[in-house]
Order: sequence, then structure tokens, then C-alpha cells
Amino acid sequence: MSQYQTVLLFGPPGAGKGTQGRILGTIPGFFHCACGDVFRQLDIQSDIGRLFLDYSSKGELVPDEITIEIWARHIDNQVVLRAFKPEFDVLVLDGIPRTVEQADLLTKHIHVLKVLHLVCPDEEQMIERLRRRALRENRMDDAKESVIRHRWEIYQQETAPLLDYYGAGHIADIDAQRSPGEVLQQSLEILIPVQNSHFARLSFERAVD
Ligand code: ADP
Repeated sequence: MSQYQTVLLFGPPGAGKGTQGRILGTIPGFFHCACGDVFRQLDIQSDIGRLFLDYSSKGELVPDEITIEIWARHIDNQVVLRAFKPEFDVLVLDGIPRTVEQADLLTKHIHVLKVLHLVCPDEEQMIERLRRRALRENRMDDAKESVIRHRWEIYQQETAPLLDYYGAGHIADIDAQRSPGEVLQQSLEILIPVQNSHFARLSFERAVD
């Protein structure tokens, strides 16, 4: 298969992409991949692991080409392991792409079916969520308020322009300030039809093969 059929979880740090992604990933036919988790699994003694710590501890993005290379290697491994079955699963990507350059580099790997945009206009509420997560999950990158604010700024400057890149026709807005259950309910209302048409396309392709 040349391109993975993909849904993007999109939104600023603290919007709840990880929470939603992890739940969606437990549903058969969806495979969840969070780019931050891919980086956190790297050996921190390796050059690339150190590079990641260097950028993430300052709230900066890892350079685009390296990010896509590491992500592609990880996802290929998941296919080999049969954890991700691209001929069946819709890929749920969380935290990638984060720049227009990354989106360009990803076009040879993914076909974007939908962008789930977790909308949260209240910066202070998101920052408070990140602070609580830093304590709970021992996340160095969110331990300092200045780093959290910097991550928020980078999202606005580098990542938010992707909404124009993918275009309104691909984007579904969801209010991220509602409870996780409500956000999940709204996400599924959008994603189940996407998954159903993916399955319908697969059976059609099999029938004409
Ligand atoms: P959050 O979920 O809070 O937005 P992540 O766990 O996705 O944070 O990412 C943690 C860090 O990993 C980021 O601050 C950044 O340094 C790095 N990172 C993750 N995804 C990307 C990406 N797509 N491009 C560049 N850097 C990334």
C-alpha cells in the first residue's frame, strides 16, 4: 500500500490529543501513533535521543527532516510487527505533522481522510492542564511555565497554519474544553463514518481484484 489512510488529531499542547488518541487506538480498525511517544521511546544515551531532549526541554520542535525520518522508521516497524495493519486500519496520528514542511514530507506516506481539530480558545485552561500532567507523568518539558508558554506560541506560529494547508473541507472542529467523554463521543460521530467508508472502499477493491 503506497499511502496510509490517516486521520490527524490536531490541537494545541494540552488539548487532550493523547487522551483521545489512546482511547481511539483501542478500537479495532484504528491504529494510534503519537509522535511525542515515538521520541520518548528513543534511547536517551543515543545521539538522536539526546537531540530530542535538547529540543523538547526548551519547548522547541525537533527539526522536520529528522522528525519524519524517525517517525517513518517507527511506523514501518509497526507494520512489520503487524501492530499496525495498513490494509485494514485507519492510522490516527497525534502530534505530527506540526509544520507545513512536515506535512509536505508526509504526503508520500499518508493520505489524510480527516483532521479532528480539538479547539480550545482558553490558553490558561490548557496551560493548567499541562501543569497537572507534568506532575502526574513526570514530563520535564511541561515542568516550567516559560516552556509551556513557549510550546503554546510555537503551536500558534508553526502548527496552526496547517489548518489552512488541509483546508476547511477536511477539518472537523470539536470543543476540547468539554469532558473527555463528550469529546470522545463527538470524535466518534465524525470518525465512524470515515472508518466505514474506508472499509467500504477496501471491500470494493478486494471485489474487483
Ligand atoms: P504534547 O502532546 O504536549 O503536544 P508531545 O508529547 O506531542 O507534546 O511532544 C513532546 C515534544 O516532542 C515536543 O515538545 C517536541 O519537542 C517533540 N515533538 C513531538 N512531535 C513532534 C513533531 N511532529 N515535530 C517536532 N517535534 C516534535
